[in-house]
Amino acid sequence: MSDDPILTVRDVQVSFPVGGLRKRDAILGVAGVSFDVRRGETFALVGESGSGKTTLARAVNGLQAISNGEITFEGQRIDGLDRKSMKPVRKRMSMMFQDPVGSLSPRMTVGDLVTEPFRIHGIEGRNLRDEAARLLSLVGLPTDFVSRFPHQLSGGQARRVGVARAIALDPALIIADEPTAGLDVSVQGEVLNLLNDLRERLGLAMMIITHNLHVVHHVADRTAVMYLGRFVEAGDTEEVFGAPRHPYTAALLSANPEPDPDKTHDRITLPAEVPSLLARPPGCEFHTRCPWAQPACSAKAPTPTQEGTRAVACHFPLEPGARPPTQSESAA
Ligand code: SF4
Repeated sequence: MSDDPILTVRDVQVSFPVGGLRKRDAILGVAGVSFDVRRGETFALVGESGSGKTTLARAVNGLQAISNGEITFEGQRIDGLDRKSMKPVRKRMSMMFQDPVGSLSPRMTVGDLVTEPFRIHGIEGRNLRDEAARLLSLVGLPTDFVSRFPHQLSGGQARRVGVARAIALDPALIIADEPTAGLDVSVQGEVLNLLNDLRERLGLAMMIITHNLHVVHHVADRTAVMYLGRFVEAGDTEEVFGAPRHPYTAALLSANPEPDPDKTHDRITLPAEVPSLLARPPGCEFHTRCPWAQPACSAKAPTPTQEGTRAVACHFPLEPGARPPTQSESAA
């Protein structure tokens, strides 16, 4: 991994119009997010559904317009590029979508699916049969799979086909949205190992979007935790997972403990529903659910503070091993 960023995202906002009887308003799905992805690293975005992570990934890939900020990829500003100008960028930045089987066209053979990127981008002079064999071998599938159809594949095999498509044009960055969704736990590990192996062999950078914290712990060098479209904590994965400083990170981790029978875990139960983006809570937007919330939390929004490699947006960051206050402690 190098310190050289391949992707730079600065203060990006994504807003969606909401229709009203008297006026049109906009809600912020992504509310001002900045990060880099370095060459050769895996960067993970985690958060509950509705946290804005998929919207942010789509914005990076040009599938969603941004309302503010800048996105730079391989030295080129790419926010605001039209579809035609974005096409060559997508050769270098490929996207793996959720749903391994559903994201593959049911009428195409595996051979056609993995070589479709060559046709989409009008790349001539390649022997597509050879390319299909090369790609299938890279993702660990037998070459005679070229004539199979998606319904003849298991979830793990379909995901491997998705990976083969993603690496077909020699990208520099792969954005993988929930790469292990819908797969058995044993197959999840195989897919993660494959992604890690390809990242090293091909010198790729990866951006992984997931709600599954085990996925992140396995593969990500750095992790950002999103809540209501903002980063609440971001830093080296081992640091963030080893001693979360933001209560939301701690709650996510406690809900997804490592499957280690020798360890006991205190589950942090979040009391309330995720607030609507139409009615963001004042102050710290997590205060309606935070077990550690204090009166000051609803008065003023915390600004992220940098602690070494990590940034945390909380007025009262947790100490290592902090346990949520009991009801009587909260009431005191
Ligand atoms: Fe919880 Fe307050 Fe920190 Fe927000 S600022 S996460 S409410 S302790």
